[in-house]
Amino acid sequence: MIYNGVDFDTYFKKYPDKDGFFGEYGGAYISDELKEAMKEITDAYFTICKSRKFIDELRRIRKEFQGRPTPITHLERLSNSLGKVQLYAKREDLNHTGAHKLNHCMGEALLAKYMGKKKIIAETGAGQHGVALATAAAYFGLECDIYMGAVDIKKQAPNVARMKILGANVVEVTEGLQTLKEAVDAAFAAYSNEYKDCIYCIGSVLGPHPFPMMVRDFQHVVGEEARAQFVEMTGELPDAITACVGGGSNAAGFFSGFLNDPVEIYGVEPLGRGEKLGDHAASLKYGTKGIMHGFNSIMLKDENGEPAPVYSVASGLDYPSSGPEHAFLHDLGRVKYSTVDDEEAIDAFFKLSRLEGIIPAIESSHAVAHAIKLAKEMNTGSILINLSGRGDKDMDYVIEHYGIR
Ligand SMILES: *Cc1c(COP(=O)(O)O)cnc(C)c1O
Repeated sequence: MIYNGVDFDTYFKKYPDKDGFFGEYGGAYISDELKEAMKEITDAYFTICKSRKFIDELRRIRKEFQGRPTPITHLERLSNSLGKVQLYAKREDLNHTGAHKLNHCMGEALLAKYMGKKKIIAETGAGQHGVALATAAAYFGLECDIYMGAVDIKKQAPNVARMKILGANVVEVTEGLQTLKEAVDAAFAAYSNEYKDCIYCIGSVLGPHPFPMMVRDFQHVVGEEARAQFVEMTGELPDAITACVGGGSNAAGFFSGFLNDPVEIYGVEPLGRGEKLGDHAASLKYGTKGIMHGFNSIMLKDENGEPAPVYSVASGLDYPSSGPEHAFLHDLGRVKYSTVDDEEAIDAFFKLSRLEGIIPAIESSHAVAHAIKLAKEMNTGSILINLSGRGDKDMDYVIEHYGIR
């Protein structure tokens, strides 16, 4: 299928190009030392990911450890409450550890093992990426350093406990505001010193090449499974699909299964409390072109051109940019990006819980909320939602701030 001049039959061969660009977005804007480290990872990835042994081992892990394939569930009661349109959910909440993140963490850790590295390092904000990576490290017997701001360590006690139980070393970062940004800086500084023995595992389709490509490829399993399962279940393709977009990893993997199909694709960004800068994290809708954290994309900037403060009720979505491939698909028009605010997300959180017996992550609730809006606009047809994770982690917060609805 050709869309606005881009041939999606050959899309994955051409995007990104050899320097990691999706059109004008992507690349690697980093120090020479880190460039060397990224080149080592890129070369290893291109060799190893084609080897039978690596592919078979990753397949086996997905089946025997992660519990893949995750099913698709027909959301019958939710659909009936809205009208004729039929809603379905791809159940990444049933992936081991309760979200899609383990898909790329297991891939990254397996790559580290094949490269002969002893350690994997990363930063974490809310702790979700840290827990998934600590899980992968325990599975493969790798050392694991997770950099985390002191403020976040206090806020996210259960995830800190999980990481420690799994054997990870949680490194407290006490510079600046002591949150995610400082944790990223500290983790990158440590990586520059240690890159011969370890690899940095980025938690989404972000950062310098090859991560936006590699993380998407490791998440491709979600879209590939979903397409085949949906066709088997209903005999046809869905009319529309939705996924929430923070950095954009669950969306990138899910969408990659449908880009070459006549399917409407919607990425859903968090509108938080509203349209004012600082009240949301809808970077593709309100952002401008720029470079940060080692890559070129569309981002929210403050008056000095620095990453702007962002907010969303979903801590997994509050990042001031999105991966370069999303910026590319946005400009191309192949994927439509829309927004859902906190209230709409919380409403969807309770609807899915009450009508289907599935408590979704607040992040995933954004994708559900947009599907609900779409279902009301469409007369007939079907919508497949990527349910990126389960909501156990969010229950205390929701009850404290919103009560039982
Ligand atoms: C981290 C997280 C997200 C956001 O990350 P993406 O890279 O945008 O997918 C979405 N949903 C859940 C459940 C998460 O844990």
